[in-house]
Amino acid sequence: MPTASSKPTTRAPSRATSSPFWRFPFWRKAALTAALATSAAGLLGAASGCSTEDATAGERAPAQRSPTAGGAVAYASAAPEKITTPPPASGTGVRIKTCPARQGKVVALSFDDGPSPYTDSLLAILKEKKAPAAFFLKAKKLARDFPKYEDYRARVKRIAEAGHAVCSHTFSHSGLVGPHVTEATIRADITKAEDLIADITGRRPKCLRPPFGDTDDRSLAILKEYGYQVILWNLNTDDWRFASSDRKKDFDPPQILALVQKTLAKSQGPFIHIQHDSEESEASIKMVPQVIDYLRDQGYTTISLQECLGQPIDIPR
Ligand SMILES: [Zn+2]
Repeated sequence: MPTASSKPTTRAPSRATSSPFWRFPFWRKAALTAALATSAAGLLGAASGCSTEDATAGERAPAQRSPTAGGAVAYASAAPEKITTPPPASGTGVRIKTCPARQGKVVALSFDDGPSPYTDSLLAILKEKKAPAAFFLKAKKLARDFPKYEDYRARVKRIAEAGHAVCSHTFSHSGLVGPHVTEATIRADITKAEDLIADITGRRPKCLRPPFGDTDDRSLAILKEYGYQVILWNLNTDDWRFASSDRKKDFDPPQILALVQKTLAKSQGPFIHIQHDSEESEASIKMVPQVIDYLRDQGYTTISLQECLGQPIDIPR
């Protein structure tokens, strides 16, 4: 994924009652309806990485068949059909591609690689649409040696104050997998990001999206050790490809919505969506209202990452 490195982001755990969303009537209403039922509908298909995969291939178990007395095989009509699809992944140190705690037409919005010059525009859109989201932050932008760090830290504070989930997308965004990645660099990439985010929000993120969506057994084991829920996605937009200012050759923002339509046509929720909030994402952010409107027109409810996971996304600092 040659270009993905400059784009995606991620976010994590819950802040339950401290979240401003819980104080909004619309949000409380949505939360109550949620009730965190464990999903058995394993729809799934996710993609990998910071956005290069078409994530939504669905899998369904074939209908159960039972042998008749004569040895022939007939479709059972009386016995309930057994669904053998495994439940969606949940918990720490496993790749979560769809909502383990919800079923049906729900979607958790998420934005990678922020903060960016467009973060406030995105926050205004989400406020106007009354939609919660998760932000997977590229934490090196919050360190003191980053040119805009004070401005970017203020943006992260506004993300948290608006009640959105603040998750980690690691510090360096260089990846948790590869020949040059050591255990020490993985640990540093995770903990530096966590410390920087906690310093701003007062909460330690326990949700993380690995750069490019790439993990291996070693990185997953380390993420589990740190208590991280590893959030992938199953509603890709390929916005980094179609609506990024540094990909002029492919620039075609409506393709974001087209990919959402294509995914919904062949799969169903719950969905974890992905777009980006990077320095190249102005056009992508402008498509967010259309993406939300389309999802709602199709009967989907936007839910928080906490509701999607049924687990806290963060802990006190
Ligand atoms: Zn990224």
